[in-house]
Amino acid sequence: MKSQAKVVVIGGGVVGASALYHLAKKGWNDVVLVERKELTSGSTWHAAGLLPLFNMSYSVGKLHQYSVAFYQALQSETGLSVGFSQVSNIRLACTEDRMDEYRYYAGVGKTVGVDINFLSPSQVKEIWPMCNTDGLIGAIQHPQDGYIQPNDLTTALAKGARNLGAEIYRHTCVTAIQSRADGWLVETDKGDIACQHVVSCTGSFARQTGAMVGLDIPVIPVEHQYIVTEPHPEILARKARGLPEQGVLRDSDAGYYLREEAGGMILGIYERGAPCCYLDGPAAECENELFQGELDRLEPHIEACIHRVPAFGEVGIKQIYNGAIAYTPDGNPIVGPAWGLRNFWLNEGHSFGITAAGGAGWQLAEWMVRGEPSVDMMGVDPRRFGAYAARGYLREKNEEAYRNVFINHFPDEERAAASPLKTAPCYDRMKALGAVFGRVYGWERPNWFVSPTYQLPADEIGSGDVLLNKNTSPPLADGRVVEKNSFRRANYFPFVGAECLHVQSKVGLLDMSAFSKFCVAGAGAEDWLESLLCNRIPKTIGRVGLCHLLSLNGGVRAEFTVYKTGDNQYYLVSAGSMERHDWDYLCKNKPADAKFSIGNITTKNGVLVLAGPKSRAVLQKLTDSDLSNDNFKWLNGKFINVGAAQANVLRVNFVGELGFELHHPIEMQNYIFDRLIEAGAEFDLKPFGIRAMDSMRLEKSYRLIPREMSIEYAALESGLDRFVRLDKECDFPGKQALMDWRARGFENAFVTLEVHGASDADAKGSEAIYHDGQLVGRATSGGYGYRIGKSLALGLVQCAFAEIGSPLEIEILGTMYNATVVAESPYDPQNHALRA
Ligand SMILES: Cc1cc2nc3c(=O)[nH]c(=O)nc-3n(C[C@H](O)[C@H](O)[C@H](O)COP(=O)(O)OP(=O)(O)OC[C@H]3O[C@@H](n4cnc5c(N)ncnc54)[C@H](O)[C@@H]3O)c2cc1C
Repeated sequence: MKSQAKVVVIGGGVVGASALYHLAKKGWNDVVLVERKELTSGSTWHAAGLLPLFNMSYSVGKLHQYSVAFYQALQSETGLSVGFSQVSNIRLACTEDRMDEYRYYAGVGKTVGVDINFLSPSQVKEIWPMCNTDGLIGAIQHPQDGYIQPNDLTTALAKGARNLGAEIYRHTCVTAIQSRADGWLVETDKGDIACQHVVSCTGSFARQTGAMVGLDIPVIPVEHQYIVTEPHPEILARKARGLPEQGVLRDSDAGYYLREEAGGMILGIYERGAPCCYLDGPAAECENELFQGELDRLEPHIEACIHRVPAFGEVGIKQIYNGAIAYTPDGNPIVGPAWGLRNFWLNEGHSFGITAAGGAGWQLAEWMVRGEPSVDMMGVDPRRFGAYAARGYLREKNEEAYRNVFINHFPDEERAAASPLKTAPCYDRMKALGAVFGRVYGWERPNWFVSPTYQLPADEIGSGDVLLNKNTSPPLADGRVVEKNSFRRANYFPFVGAECLHVQSKVGLLDMSAFSKFCVAGAGAEDWLESLLCNRIPKTIGRVGLCHLLSLNGGVRAEFTVYKTGDNQYYLVSAGSMERHDWDYLCKNKPADAKFSIGNITTKNGVLVLAGPKSRAVLQKLTDSDLSNDNFKWLNGKFINVGAAQANVLRVNFVGELGFELHHPIEMQNYIFDRLIEAGAEFDLKPFGIRAMDSMRLEKSYRLIPREMSIEYAALESGLDRFVRLDKECDFPGKQALMDWRARGFENAFVTLEVHGASDADAKGSEAIYHDGQLVGRATSGGYGYRIGKSLALGLVQCAFAEIGSPLEIEILGTMYNATVVAESPYDPQNHALRA
């Protein structure tokens, strides 16, 4: 065994084997993999081997698409069969909501490049003659989909990696990992290996591996079962006649998948009530472990399956597989750098690991070898969860993520498990005002407000005759169901509209306490920020600027509102969901010999946003400070009193009105809240929520990460010209790469689109954009702009089609709408309201 290597990959399941292969493929062939038992002896061996291309996320969709293509190429490269049966995959729909989900998904598929066919029930019957199509509305088919033999795939990956110089040590258990000045020392029961990088791919052992380096990894597995049946005469007869396999059948509304297997069938079920397992990790001797089958839990799904494919009820059960499947709170894996550690990489939490292994290994290897992935990995970034995602939270959320695999993934869906976990002090006050809460990074935030008497009519609440079509958000504490989920304009549409118009005409109050907040103070702070961020850093005390941290390839990694509070003192604000991500970047970029300090003060400060033409009048009643425009201009901040409390007040906001962000000691929040409500009464102050904010930011063409801005688009493609100062004297991350990109020429340009004729559905992001029927781009956000009375979409399209006035088409839920590229900020383009 080597005592030194560039990289040690821990874990010989399909995910570790793929990471090893791709590192070697990228030219890092001094790489080794250590596996405590045999390859595949964790979760991989018992996987059903399905390769679902379907995924609502653009980035995960790209990873899956890569895998399916790559596995076939691997077979030719290594000469080993991976047992890929490209039998196609059919997903059934029993409700119109489900069809809308597929129509929405088709946008993701088209922009990622995945083939999708829409099928009628009779077409389903042609492909799956044993399927009873009663009650079906339609289906989608992925012709390239199918299943693979997970063991064969892992063996082929291992062979491919070995051919490229990688080494694999089986029956070698990692017992400890020590940090060293030049990297890591990986201690195993067969000896130690010094290395520069560690990649953790340890499946159900993720938390134990994390504990070796002080990480609380947000992965706890859940039990997952599938049933293998005896052969069925009809399937045998089809085989004897040389007929094709009927493909993988997914009955999304009933939560199961079914496929042929050796003349019989495999029925895999995402049941309600599946428990987390291995809470304290698997036992040291665990190998190829299965749990006792739990048939009772599967019963409603088996009944549903027998209704759909009666033949299933005509054969005996050969075996039940009940194994551990790794989960994270949102069901996506964690792939990327570990927070707080250098050169420690995570490739964990894979619940569709057979499918994702190829793409995850590919992108992780790019990240490690080239410094950045080429696919936007924000949806799987390990730092999208914070310290709150600890054992108890994981247990509740991971079980929820598992049982929700097949639910309809409505764009505004909110998940209730483990909430309310993190609440701002004003939470109860907002609740009393009618807040319907949503969640970000564990925080509760008002999404919109509803009157105390409103509830959905009973006939709108019913979820139909399907098992899992949850079409309402969690009820309020008093039991009222107030939100009906939909891909179309949902019942909150008029409420949110009223909030926007109120902010436009009077004044609104928004809780943004979830914002991430950091401070940078001490000698050299200003120079450091100047060398880190691509805009000029505010030089005058009290000035506020919007500054981006570019990715090394010239895309956008993070966005900060930077407020200069004193000499070499800065206050940075970024999105609530990005706290750990952004903090990690700040920490890792801080020079070892820095004289300044950085602090994460996210939970010390609350943020209340007062916005609208009357906001100044409200706040002026509470402060001795002169808030007139002459004395307090847009893009400035002031430390002022708010009644008896104090706050740093920033004249910025994300809604495009006169407005003030009040950053205050969190313990003073309710005092400030009450004073604002009292002072605002005469101006008809009302609360508003995130959905109204989102609509208003669309009208201002304000970009978000990872939508309009991401590492996949050059910062200048995202239209950040006025925030990117390539003429700055100093260097900053991504500067040269962005200049090189510009020299090569940009492919895409940011656009704001007015969508014509949309009356019951708006773009949500991920819709395909066309010109004369040819795909030219994708929407990254969309919605209705209530202040301008127009349906809008933001997106990136090929440069040739980005001119203002360019006529385009956008496909929303299967309907093609005409759209026109309009000038940025269709609401108040001159920013008169902001500057007022
Ligand atoms: C019943 C069932 C059906 C499934 N069906 C599908 C499917 O159809 N399609 C799909 O995409 N996914 C499916 N999955 C999920 C899939 O099995 C997993 O996502 C995938 O196997 C994860 O691979 P992995 O390499 O991350 O983990 P594992 O296969 O568990 O590998 C982790 C490895 O790390 C090793 N290890 C851990 N700690 C150490 C250490 N300290 N030192 C050395 N080695 C260590 C372990 O021994 C283990 O071999 C299914 C899962 C289950 C339970």
